[in-house]
Amino acid sequence: MSRVHPEYDESRRLVDGSIRTADDGDPVLVGTECAECGFVVFPTRPFCRNCLSENVDDIDLSRNGELRTYTVAHTGQEGFEPPYAFGFVDLPEGVRLYSLLKGWESGTLEVGAPVELTLDEIKPDPKTGEPLFGHVFRLVEGDDD
Ligand SMILES: [Zn+2]
Repeated sequence: MSRVHPEYDESRRLVDGSIRTADDGDPVLVGTECAECGFVVFPTRPFCRNCLSENVDDIDLSRNGELRTYTVAHTGQEGFEPPYAFGFVDLPEGVRLYSLLKGWESGTLEVGAPVELTLDEIKPDPKTGEPLFGHVFRLVEGDDD
């Protein structure tokens, strides 16, 4: 299964920057790592949020993380079809991301579940109705064998 939505269009990205497409065609989130204290943030920053050093480098963040916590909404919010889920995802670099969650069914989300990065539809553009895209995490499918 592709990690990039087939209709993905960079011009319709909800949040600009800090996402790139790698040579293998899969999405990569770009963060900033501090050379002084090792603190990593997403999205990229010109200085360290922890120690204020400007000795920082952009780094590719892991595509796989762990679901730290989540909430499932059963009532509508404009642009989202219930039920939908948002959660915090922890990456190995120490970054915690707030993200829309996809690829789940009732009862399959749990704290600690492995999730992977995709570029997917977030919601329709309220002006044009065209989908807006961004980083989304989905459950890593279990090994049913
Ligand atoms: Zn620092």
